[in-house]
Amino acid sequence: MQSSTPDFSVEVEAIEGHCPAGERHAEEAMGARKIPVFSCEGPCIRGEIARLAANLVVREAPGLARACHAETFFVPHSGMARWVKDAERCIVIDGCFLKCHGRVLNKLIGAERVIHFDALPLHRKFSKVFLMDDVPEADRQEVARLVADRILATLRSEAQA
Ligand code: SF4
Repeated sequence: MQSSTPDFSVEVEAIEGHCPAGERHAEEAMGARKIPVFSCEGPCIRGEIARLAANLVVREAPGLARACHAETFFVPHSGMARWVKDAERCIVIDGCFLKCHGRVLNKLIGAERVIHFDALPLHRKFSKVFLMDDVPEADRQEVARLVADRILATLRSEAQA
């Protein structure tokens, strides 16, 4: 089995229109100069932990706001994409070492503007599980809390450096 892929592109169908709620969110975040925060998401438990942790990080650290990865990547004329491209830097919390969102964002805005976290080494759990529904909600919340605390500590120490 092949174990790596060189840089590649994906062709995406054209799209018209805007998401009104996404536009409003991006405009407010841009106006407040908030740093966009991306994450993976379920159904994979690793992505779900990243998503839950990202929500905690944004709630508890000043100057951050959640960004929609799909709107940013696939609706290039959206306010979401404009906010991300204009932001001084972005934070990505990926669910595992495959770094799916970080790899796209690195190419979109330049790796030097991306602060990347891989949540998996921050918890090292659920290695044999795929579906988030196979992990009880209380365990998901507890592990996401642990990951968020570690990321918040890193962000705080970088802010003080
Ligand atoms: S980095 Fe990719 S493979 Fe890993 S959890 Fe996120 S979306 Fe899934």
